[in-house]
Amino acid sequence: MGRDMMEFTDALAVARAGVDYSPRFGAVCPACGTKRAKVTSSCGWEEGYKIRYHKCRNDSCTMAVANISIKSIEKDYVTGTNG
Ligand SMILES: [Zn+2]
Repeated sequence: MGRDMMEFTDALAVARAGVDYSPRFGAVCPACGTKRAKVTSSCGWEEGYKIRYHKCRNDSCTMAVANISIKSIEKDYVTGTNG
């Protein structure tokens, strides 16, 4: 025990659906658990959510090797108005 890595197909589904964005750790790769996946693009705030896309920085991770983007969702504490 002690390994909580997902099956790759599960990790792929999570990467597509979106992981929670942590203010502390950024996006965590669902396949290998590497924190602060590199941001490749972000879409700005919308309705209290910010969507980002990341690439895993672990060269031996299947996500990185397959060049799969990891989506992350950051939810603000205050929802509603934009500025
Ligand atoms: Zn990874």
